[in-house]
Amino acid sequence: MSDVVGVLALQGAFDKHIEMLQALGVRCRRVRFAQELDECAALIIPGGESTTMSLLIQKFDLYGRLCEFAKEKPMMGICAGAILMADEVGDSRVIALNVIPMTVVRNAYGRQVSSFSAELRLKCDAGGPTYLAHFIRAPGIKSNNENIEVLAEYNGEAVMMRMGRNMVLTFHPELTNDSRIHVCWLKGFHPAYKQELL
Ligand code: GLN
Repeated sequence: MSDVVGVLALQGAFDKHIEMLQALGVRCRRVRFAQELDECAALIIPGGESTTMSLLIQKFDLYGRLCEFAKEKPMMGICAGAILMADEVGDSRVIALNVIPMTVVRNAYGRQVSSFSAELRLKCDAGGPTYLAHFIRAPGIKSNNENIEVLAEYNGEAVMMRMGRNMVLTFHPELTNDSRIHVCWLKGFHPAYKQELL
């Protein structure tokens, strides 16, 4: 079976994820077309602009393929990617993929603090140092679903959640050299990292 991790490359910060995966020694590829998705064992949907990405997903005829993909293979959604993975977005321009039962509020931190950094405690690296997270026009995410695990919080609100092998986060792990977020996700399924979920 393929162990290639795809990064959706329609719009947004996809190249930095490719660099991070390559630095981790993980085989990876950019994904724009359905047949490229078929070659992947897992997929990252990067940050960017969720409305634009949603339009492009339809234009590239990927909506149904991504929904099918998510039913059997792991996904990680970053910021705009997390918005797309939700089941309730509250913005009719975003056609959600319904991967994670959660509600999303776009640009939840408002304009004034549209970008900021904060030290987080990561539940998947409980004994480790804090993680410097960069938030850029980040959404708010909320879920009451009992199968969802909150892996990090900021000001008492979830900013990183996991359901099975799927993860969503509202900050940008590709903007640092700290690979703990990618490793946390890869541990759920990748042969080189696989172990029990912490
Ligand atoms: N605010 C963007 C949106 O709503 C997301 C920003 C990001 O991905 N950093 O799509």
